[in-house]
Amino acid sequence: MRVRDARTTTRRGFGVDIGYDGDVSYPGAGRAARRDEAVRAAVEQGLLGPGTPIVGLLDVTGIRESAVELRAAFDAVTEPGTPALHAFAVKATPLVPVLRLLRDEGIGAEVASPGELALARAAGVPVERTVLDSPAKTPAELREALALGIAVNADNPQELDRIDALMGSAVSRSPLGIRVNPQVGGGSIEATSTATATSKFGVALRDEGAREWVVRAYLDRPWLTRLHAHTGSQGVPLSLLVRGVAETYALAEEINGRAGRRQIDTVDIGGGLPVNFASDATTPTYAQYARMLREAVPGLFDGRYGLVTEFGRSLLAKHGTVVARVEYAKTSGGRPVAVTHAGVQVATRTVYAPASWPLRIAVYGAKGRPKEGPPVVQDVAGPACFAGDLLAERRALPLVEQGDYVAALDTGAYYFAHHYGYNSLARPGVYGFASDGTGSVTFAMVREPQRLEEIVAESGGAQASALTELQRP
Ligand SMILES: *Cc1c(COP(=O)(O)O)cnc(C)c1O
Repeated sequence: MRVRDARTTTRRGFGVDIGYDGDVSYPGAGRAARRDEAVRAAVEQGLLGPGTPIVGLLDVTGIRESAVELRAAFDAVTEPGTPALHAFAVKATPLVPVLRLLRDEGIGAEVASPGELALARAAGVPVERTVLDSPAKTPAELREALALGIAVNADNPQELDRIDALMGSAVSRSPLGIRVNPQVGGGSIEATSTATATSKFGVALRDEGAREWVVRAYLDRPWLTRLHAHTGSQGVPLSLLVRGVAETYALAEEINGRAGRRQIDTVDIGGGLPVNFASDATTPTYAQYARMLREAVPGLFDGRYGLVTEFGRSLLAKHGTVVARVEYAKTSGGRPVAVTHAGVQVATRTVYAPASWPLRIAVYGAKGRPKEGPPVVQDVAGPACFAGDLLAERRALPLVEQGDYVAALDTGAYYFAHHYGYNSLARPGVYGFASDGTGSVTFAMVREPQRLEEIVAESGGAQASALTELQRP
């Protein structure tokens, strides 16, 4: 049995694979095979072992494939020559080499903080392929973005006031727009539902007077040429995402109609394509989403509008794996518990909200080979000192033993690059891998494992006597 929970679900649940995987025996088989190869190679090459009990792995082949699929999906539904910028939502995987890899595949960057902008710049993402969307931009951030010529979507009227002031004092080549919240409703996960009636993002379009305010804002500012919405994320059904885009398009048409010209030339439809965390299959696909959009909102694709997209999770999630060594295996109350080195510090959402963010777990033996064995109901725990630090609870897996490895799958977005400092656990190293298809795997370091000196430095190490000197008894 290889990664039993993954494969049985796969065979039952999902029909077609649009992936470019070599092995077509089931959807996502190629990706799973690459992952298995990489885990074994990580153990064999000493990236992972007793002294380095946790790593993050990134499948370079898979990332490139997803980028190709994204571009092809929208190319297939737009008129030839329509400008399209696919900007990766940096928050999903804020790692410079990943942003550079995506840049190499023609993908830009959507940034939402000075830190994310700095990462995109460090990766060499061109300013004209960068979009700034944060809900809390300071005047200094806005000034920098406008000076650089980065696209900015104003979140609210107060921010637009600030942009007005900057536009009054200098010229900018930044494409500028307003973010609207079409208020089409939420999905199954409240924390990732951005288009609820009371969401904190954008101008709430259905509030009294809001739509008219937006229209007037454009009519009064000929330099506003874009319109932006990001309707949701994981847990939001495709139909709702499509409705959000349809509402945004309708507003763009209304504004251009009232302006009597094509003032809005680009619609930014945000990201939010949900990810299947239940098997190796990629569902839904970019192609499915693009076709649904084209059917529901044909006018958006007839060549009159440029397009911006901002996908995050769907580009990276399935290409990342956290692998951790099993330090101890014990039983508690009769239930087997594997104590591993992956817990709340790398899988924060899963640990704190397990019902919303369940992760598949794969078990590998001490040599890094997929473990076989009858399913045993057990807990897979992390290293942190609180009882809820569980990667998986009551999961049927081959019995996990001391010295084995467990992998948390589909963790390439919003997981290992979002380290949480609980218990001062070190950030794991992250490595990209590529295989030549014959079992030979090469790794490249993406992010160094955090060193203890760094933890001390980040925790006020240089200020050790700050408090005793501030006030002496
Ligand atoms: C987070 C975010 C995205 C990306 O969302 P995913 O669900 O990861 O695709 C895109 N746009 C904005 C404005 C965001 O906040």
